[in-house]
Amino acid sequence: MKPVVGCDLDDVLADFITTFVRVANQLYGRPANVLARPTSWEWDGMDLSPREIDGVWHRILKTPNFWETLGVLPNVDPFLVAKLEERSDLYFPTARARGAGNDVANQSAFWLQNNFGIEFPRVIVSNEKGPLAQALKYDYFIDDRAKNCLEVKQARPECKVFLNDACHNQSFDLTEQGIPRIRGFNEFAKVVLSGE
Ligand SMILES: [Mg+2]
Repeated sequence: MKPVVGCDLDDVLADFITTFVRVANQLYGRPANVLARPTSWEWDGMDLSPREIDGVWHRILKTPNFWETLGVLPNVDPFLVAKLEERSDLYFPTARARGAGNDVANQSAFWLQNNFGIEFPRVIVSNEKGPLAQALKYDYFIDDRAKNCLEVKQARPECKVFLNDACHNQSFDLTEQGIPRIRGFNEFAKVVLSGE
């Protein structure tokens, strides 16, 4: 039987942070260095006020089909994405916000088709990653947000959950909760494909 896999999109496959920082820099001139990266989920270290962070989101969600425009993270191997799609029941749960243009699930599916050649990507837009994990019976799950990893592990303890290494989650150590940190999607795909 194929394993069931839940794979988050932003900052696991898609490079959302780079685009967010670039938009902030265009709007406010900050962060002055577009290579600066947030040190928390709340965009600490970006030299932006809460109002400016809202301003960046406003611009993003006003951009038609924004979610189709993101780049692929540089260390993601499209071959491994396609292989994982072939060898598992692969779901893409995402908490992406609805914005201008096509439905956010369709924007996300189009992005996956376009970048990885997946014909019918199973994208599910929801904030409730725990209940989804339970309902879909994940065997494996990867996300860059500690909160989501913890919710999935709690809802489905038998699932092998991985925290994707990211600039904003360095303060989290979830190993005691049975959630190892993993260095990127490729390593995750190799774990799933080897049946570890
Ligand atoms: Mg994410």
